[in-house]
Amino acid sequence: MLCAVLTIFLGALGACIGSFLNVVVYRLPRGLSVSQPRRSFCPSCEKQIEWYDNIPIASWIALKGRCRNCGLPISLQYPLVESSGVVVTMVVWEAVRSLRAGDPFDLWWPVLLGMLGLFWCLLALSAMDLKEYYVDIRLTWLALALGLGCHAISPARVWPSMEYVSAPWAAFAFGCTVVLLVLHWLWPMPEEQPITEETTEQAPQEAATAKISNAKPRAGHVVMVSLLAVIAAAAVAIEVMACYLEVDPVPAQLLTGLGLATLFGSILAASWLPTEADEAIAQAVENERSQAVRQAAKESLILLACVAVGLGSIWLVHREPVSRLWLSFYRWTPSSTWQPVAGLATALFGWVVAGGTCWLVRVLFTLLLRKEALGFGDIHIIAAVGAVMGPHLAIAGFFLAAPVALLGTLVLVFRKRYRTLPFGPWLSLGFLLALLWGGDLVNYINNGLGGLHLLLQR
Ligand SMILES: [Zn+2]
Repeated sequence: MLCAVLTIFLGALGACIGSFLNVVVYRLPRGLSVSQPRRSFCPSCEKQIEWYDNIPIASWIALKGRCRNCGLPISLQYPLVESSGVVVTMVVWEAVRSLRAGDPFDLWWPVLLGMLGLFWCLLALSAMDLKEYYVDIRLTWLALALGLGCHAISPARVWPSMEYVSAPWAAFAFGCTVVLLVLHWLWPMPEEQPITEETTEQAPQEAATAKISNAKPRAGHVVMVSLLAVIAAAAVAIEVMACYLEVDPVPAQLLTGLGLATLFGSILAASWLPTEADEAIAQAVENERSQAVRQAAKESLILLACVAVGLGSIWLVHREPVSRLWLSFYRWTPSSTWQPVAGLATALFGWVVAGGTCWLVRVLFTLLLRKEALGFGDIHIIAAVGAVMGPHLAIAGFFLAAPVALLGTLVLVFRKRYRTLPFGPWLSLGFLLALLWGGDLVNYINNGLGGLHLLLQR
């Protein structure tokens, strides 16, 4: 009963969070406050939207995608993000619930909180990336803070594939973090700017209107959004059903399959959203070509410094009397099983290793291709995911995202509706795949490596 009530609550919460994320996606890149004004307003006529026109998904369908006041089209983005909010929430809930079958409320609520917060951040980042080719770093800091907080307060190690990191590796993580903080303080990174119409000479009001009226909602869109609403409702219904079924995993499998397919389709549907940034992006990459190699060389030095100080920290904590002091700090505990410092170090280790690995991939490929290979925003995202989910799953998600992105691009090319889609949304889908099956994948690779090791020993 408790499980079913919680599921329905989470489904509704997912829709509301999706609605809120739409506000975040619209306001953050424009430098507007997220909390003021409290109520949403129509981007074209700027009239405040009444509560009955602000019900997630349902209002968009009822109004057939047009503003009640000015009649101009409301972007397809709104119902897409809202239904994705429900689907993502249900898939994460399924993943966490099935991990801890049997003890629904025993000590693992920080896991649920951390995972949901992370994937809500990823949803906002994906929508922003699709719309503006822009990753707001502040959202990745929020996810990092969530990871640090949840790991520090979680008394039990229920996190998937994430035991407390050992004391020497904790020292490594702290060492790397200190280097990054000092370097960031000495040479702050230039802020990434969203490439929107506002950055051109046009007045914001005029640009917003032009953008809105570019995308006339067609009957097909209303049908599609209605279908999404049905799928979102079905996802909640399947999850409620799964609460009562102890053994049969089929409904849950159905949910994950349906959910992932819907999210995949939603990313593709975003190729209908109008954007004028494509050429600007191509031009920006071309302009930065000469600087990219020099930048990558500089970044490789930073990475080297991190690894050197990290390894130095490991060496240091093996020496007396530092060793004893470090261990007592690392093992500090207010209760028998709960080690807040170790938890914090575990999240930090995930952040450093996941981010560092992908940063290395970026540097190597930039030097190889002689143009920027992987955006810095993507590295921030992967690092934040590492802090919450652990480095294994974050890196697994990174590699799972590539085939998914390839498949999506093939579909778009085949449909001759080609628009450069950014990598961020595919990355988020990769992390969801990793959350569901990454543990199996990591075990499989470990077993494979173990087998190889045995083979070499013979
Ligand atoms: Zn309006």
